[in-house]
Amino acid sequence: MKRNTMGINKPDIIQTIEKAGIEIKRGKALCPFHTEQTPSFMVNQKKQTFHCYGCGEHGDTIHFIMKLHGLSFKDALVYLGIKSGQPVKIDPAIARQKKIQRDFETAINNFYEKLCQQSRKLHKVRIQVKDNPGELTEQGAAYFAGLMGDLAEIDFKLDTLLTGSFEDKVFLLRGEKYAYRGEIKSAAT
Ligand SMILES: [Zn+2]
Repeated sequence: MKRNTMGINKPDIIQTIEKAGIEIKRGKALCPFHTEQTPSFMVNQKKQTFHCYGCGEHGDTIHFIMKLHGLSFKDALVYLGIKSGQPVKIDPAIARQKKIQRDFETAINNFYEKLCQQSRKLHKVRIQVKDNPGELTEQGAAYFAGLMGDLAEIDFKLDTLLTGSFEDKVFLLRGEKYAYRGEIKSAAT
């Protein structure tokens, strides 16, 4: 227990975070509040605070527990043993919902990356054709027109992922499996 200026005995932040199943290496961890591959969640043992450079979440041990388990300030105090009271029940539905949310964000990010790559490739093809319009055969021109149709669709999807509603995004993710079976990749490389 550490005594801070407010006179509250708070459990050590490192221990609290590790007890929640999050591995900390040299003061860094994968953020539990957003999806990431490289750790940007920093834990400062001296100050007893955390700060995530990815999503901006920050605070102390109490904030961490509040945020992680969706608890009120008072319940977090009881949970951490700072205050006595009725044992706090952690709602598994909240953890599940957060996991779904994180998985959804990951899927959106991956899809976005993929579309960006396809868009870049097709833009490159477009520039090549624009620079040498005479080199297209009739068949090639028809194929090119098809690719440009795809490009418009990809750019529309990118726009939807950036500015669309939650339902629009879900709709796009569902359709993703059935579209673009690699033909763009082979055509544009
Ligand atoms: Zn974060």
